[in-house]
Amino acid sequence: MAAYYTQPAAANYHTPPAHSVRPRGYRICDQCGAAESPSVSRFRLCGGCMTTQYCSPNCQKVHWPSHKAICQHTANQVSAVRAPAAAYGGENVAKSLRKFTSAHAALLGWAGFQALQLKRIPANVRQNALLVELAPTAHPESHRRFSIAATHVVPRTYICDPLVIADIQRREERCRHNGGIGTAVIIIQCGGISQVMPVEVDPPAKISWDSREDWAHVLHHFVETGRTDFQPISTTSRGVYYG
Ligand SMILES: [Zn+2]
Ligand SMILES: [Zn+2]
Repeated sequence: MAAYYTQPAAANYHTPPAHSVRPRGYRICDQCGAAESPSVSRFRLCGGCMTTQYCSPNCQKVHWPSHKAICQHTANQVSAVRAPAAAYGGENVAKSLRKFTSAHAALLGWAGFQALQLKRIPANVRQNALLVELAPTAHPESHRRFSIAATHVVPRTYICDPLVIADIQRREERCRHNGGIGTAVIIIQCGGISQVMPVEVDPPAKISWDSREDWAHVLHHFVETGRTDFQPISTTSRGVYYG
């Protein structure tokens, strides 16, 4: 595995940090559009759907009237999943899946950006989505209860839930309004349960992430080892830069 990273990037992959830091960056407050950054306190997840995130309690409150429909729709899907498997420590699989997605949000967003080749083909953001198929594994920690079974690039029409499509559309419009290219869609699926993770993408010129062919390998590595400290690898004029 070391052969993959002869660059300093290897440090990011093979040296776990002294403290386990949850991923930061590239999360957008769904109300005001602020990006999460290390200087801002961590974003809060909506407790109803465990999908949408906010920079502050105030933003969450202001957004509620327009968020309510998709939130309750998502929350109902979570509670509709019965028969919690022992593998999930008695926790509902859909809930585990949401925790997994949240813990690996930076990694999944980066993998989507790479898989859709958005640096080279920005128009892909509207055509395709990254589908990540998971297999359940027994583990006490929710971010380690799944392993990657397969990844595929699928057409965006793979998503047929009208409320989810409308939510993506809304983000897309906001993102383009702010000068971005659109919303990259990552579908995380385990058996019959799935979750859609939308990531609003800046114009490629503003993104310094490397184009990496080995994103699937990187995705496997972080998920299998349970590391949630992934930071996108970027190249700047000063060389390799993390985050
Ligand atoms: Zn906000
Ligand atoms: Zn919600």
